[in-house]
Amino acid sequence: MGPSGHFVELFSSVQGEGPYVGASTLFVRLGGCDLRCRWCDSPATWRPPAACRIQTARDRTEWRELPNPVAARAIVAAADALALEDHRFVALTGGEPLLQPEVIDALARALGGRGPRVLLETAGHLPDALAKVVETLDVVSMDWKLASDVRREGEATAVLQQTARSFDGLHARFLEVARRAPEVYVKIVVTETSRDAEVLAACEQIARQDPATVVVLQPVTPQGVVRTRPGAARLLALQRQASRWLTDVRVIPQTHPLYGAP
Ligand code: SF4
Repeated sequence: MGPSGHFVELFSSVQGEGPYVGASTLFVRLGGCDLRCRWCDSPATWRPPAACRIQTARDRTEWRELPNPVAARAIVAAADALALEDHRFVALTGGEPLLQPEVIDALARALGGRGPRVLLETAGHLPDALAKVVETLDVVSMDWKLASDVRREGEATAVLQQTARSFDGLHARFLEVARRAPEVYVKIVVTETSRDAEVLAACEQIARQDPATVVVLQPVTPQGVVRTRPGAARLLALQRQASRWLTDVRVIPQTHPLYGAP
């Protein structure tokens, strides 16, 4: 039978952020998220929708819907129908995909080893769930959320700020588990109101595990409630300072909004 999960959409595009920006990628977006980032660009994923939207033509002219929950094997069949092997990556994304580890496990096993590398995009705060699936993944793309920019669902921001140290601890434990995958990199979204001290503390903690970890400083994309992005001078200064501990710190904004890619 195999597991079923809650999905938002499946579509073919290019990676819009991180070190593989521009690479052809088939995205499988799972529904549900237990965090509430101040700058979230996909609030529609917080609650799983009634049906999953599935692209059926490469030119994006045809779609169909499958009611949730959808069997993992139906998602694999949809990926095959969209020429899975033509892509460099298949990205399992969200929402927070690790809220459904048994579905990630089934998908990664079925989609892996067939050409595209299996890349997990995650908020990086569920280390126990990652431990169940990490052996099936090729790349872990984890966020290191700044405690002042994020809160857990149902909690006030202040609560998470008080427990910033323990939230950082979750990220650190997560990164240790992620190192069992062939590749891991870390993204830190920087907003105009993010605190430099928090960004740099995160970089220092990451470097303590491995100074060669690729860290991407991603200036937030203005949209929704976010009106401005941090300036170039500030980002370059953060890169310089983080490079005291890390050997590969990159400043990479999201690119897909620039030309309307999904
Ligand atoms: S973890 Fe991702 S989906 Fe969840 S609130 Fe943050 S940005 Fe949005």
